[in-house]
Amino acid sequence: MVEETTRKRWDPAESKRGLECRHCGCKHFRVIYTRPTWGGRIMRRRECRHCGKRMTTWERAGGT
Ligand SMILES: [Zn+2]
Repeated sequence: MVEETTRKRWDPAESKRGLECRHCGCKHFRVIYTRPTWGGRIMRRRECRHCGKRMTTWERAGGT
């Protein structure tokens, strides 16, 4: 039996190094919209400029 312990999650620290599209590997994203959510986070909807794949990321609000 294999336990799934490594779940890929969006880490805000990685955003400083650059977000990569999992589909085509490019790093160019267009932000469709940004919106604060409860819990002190900012949700961003992004779209890859190359392949058009969309992903949602959460970042910490405030602080920086
Ligand atoms: Zn892409």
